[in-house]
Amino acid sequence: MKVAGRIESLPPYLFAELDKKLEAKRAEGVDVISLGIGDPDTPTPDHIIAAMHEAIDDPSTHQYPSYYGSKPFREAAARWYRRRFDVALDPETEVMALIGSKEGLGHLSFAFLDPGDEALVPDPGYPVYGISTMLAGGTPVSIPMPAEKGFLPDLDAAAAKVTNKTKLMWLNFPSNPTAATASLEDMTHAVEFAREHGLLVAHDAAYSEITYDGYVAPSILQVPGAKDVAIEFNSLSKFYNMTGWRIGFCVGSAEAVRALSIVKTNLDSGQFDAIQRAGIAAMDGPQDHIAELRTLYKARRDLVVSTLNGLGWDIQPPKGAIYVWVPTLGGKTSTEFVDFLLDETGVFVAPGSGYGANGEGYVRFALTVRDDRLAEAMDRLSRVLG
Ligand SMILES: *Cc1c(COP(=O)(O)O)cnc(C)c1O
Repeated sequence: MKVAGRIESLPPYLFAELDKKLEAKRAEGVDVISLGIGDPDTPTPDHIIAAMHEAIDDPSTHQYPSYYGSKPFREAAARWYRRRFDVALDPETEVMALIGSKEGLGHLSFAFLDPGDEALVPDPGYPVYGISTMLAGGTPVSIPMPAEKGFLPDLDAAAAKVTNKTKLMWLNFPSNPTAATASLEDMTHAVEFAREHGLLVAHDAAYSEITYDGYVAPSILQVPGAKDVAIEFNSLSKFYNMTGWRIGFCVGSAEAVRALSIVKTNLDSGQFDAIQRAGIAAMDGPQDHIAELRTLYKARRDLVVSTLNGLGWDIQPPKGAIYVWVPTLGGKTSTEFVDFLLDETGVFVAPGSGYGANGEGYVRFALTVRDDRLAEAMDRLSRVLG
């Protein structure tokens, strides 16, 4: 048999190799503390689980769900956007449920890119944007996110890279992996950029609720007229500790939602209705749990930043997401520094180079491990680097 060229030509998946290294360390008996993956360590809130229990006992949830998400789910997402961002959405045409937002992010490339087309992707950025571009036969083109600009996109540099093949621009704030945050003004520039160049801007807002120090993340749809050129992806994964449940949604441009729905109706059959009902309970239910998450991650962020700054770094505490983005020491590459930390301390962090060429020279610390384990990880770093 012969596997498709689009599979064989993908760059090797750095994280698969690192997984092997981690396994080997554990097999040697090393007590590895992994700060590699951003996956909330605390459980899904009880009222959401209770809604799921009830929904799963209702046989009407056992049949094929709606392709687009149930009407009640789409209405709940629209209410959530109204409450949170004061953005009005038509649940019929401007909201669609996703099997986790990653599913929609990946499929959007198939809705907007023909072979040979180009997509502007943040570098460093979440790998799905660039990889799905390649799977769709397109070419990812890096948007520089310079450190000196706070890892915000250099749109002038991006404009110089636009061609008549450029169909899509990806953004993600608060950012994975850099934890950079954007203002409504930054979002306005992105919308103007999309309008000027006749392309769709896709904003991944997976961390919009995980913010600190009084910072409130905007939605790109708060920019007047954004719905003409923008789609926004959101996810229940991080706000409600629902990564395993696979539920998210997209909102915005009716044309973009329609195009994505055509890919999806041909490839999947929607998300389990019981999970959508649990999602409604999450979005409509008490939100105090999000405040608790912010408090939890903020304390961890402060511990990591103060430990590293005590060891000679000069890191500003990030105002969003669940990561601390850290330059390597001694001119080491990302993977050299990851290996060094793993060998010397048993602490594993993600190499910045896994998030794009401009991530080289950085590593990413995730804040999603138990407090006592994070404290232990910081003690180990202090012993070796102090
Ligand atoms: C975690 C994360 C998501 C959420 O993905 P789901 O598929 O909804 O679980 C989306 N985008 C980014 C950048 C993330 O880090």
